[in-house]
Amino acid sequence: MINRYLKDLASLFFPKTCAGCDAPLVHGEKLICTSCWYHLPFTLSHDNAGNLSTGQSASFLYLLGSSRVQRIIHQLKYHNRPEIGTLLGEKYGTVLHEITPFNEADVIVPVPLHPGKLRKRGYNQSAFFAQGLSHSMRKPIVSECLIRHRVTESQTTKNRYERYQNMESAFRLNDAEAVAGKHVLLVDDVLTTGATLEACSTVLLAGGAMKVSAITIAKAL
Ligand SMILES: [Zn+2]
Repeated sequence: MINRYLKDLASLFFPKTCAGCDAPLVHGEKLICTSCWYHLPFTLSHDNAGNLSTGQSASFLYLLGSSRVQRIIHQLKYHNRPEIGTLLGEKYGTVLHEITPFNEADVIVPVPLHPGKLRKRGYNQSAFFAQGLSHSMRKPIVSECLIRHRVTESQTTKNRYERYQNMESAFRLNDAEAVAGKHVLLVDDVLTTGATLEACSTVLLAGGAMKVSAITIAKAL
């Protein structure tokens, strides 16, 4: 009770704001305000399921420029608010719990950040998204399963094949035993070209995973 009082009091002086629209959050709202939740461009996962060459993928939200989703992702990645990832993972997990093939996965594997980037940012936003998914889908996370061993060069001047090769050589399987014979749910923040997910899937499958499905917070349009 006193805790609640202190928290409310603290929020008078340091009001928490919505990650999507910057409006002050009211009692009962967490990270994202009710209005933003109402207006977010949710994909319908069963319609949205796309095909990577290695398996199916689905995204929770569509990402458009200068949008709520863009602001939310920006807060998640650059403003030290990893708990946004966990919240989105929990919400999306309750949807995916009903959707095949995602609900058939055995383990969850977040796409790693390059160690240098991880040090700088202090956290891997995809790992926090994975934690939320793990909680609501009741599936274990295998962390440190993949290793990202160099910064990916700029992708913009490369053609599709070069991009793919460049990406694939950036990941290595660190723990083959943890995924051997398993259906892996690969988790990342934003799906753009699909090169990252394809590269990770290829490495996982080559290392003995039975199947890979992929999930992202948002899909760039
Ligand atoms: Zn809002």
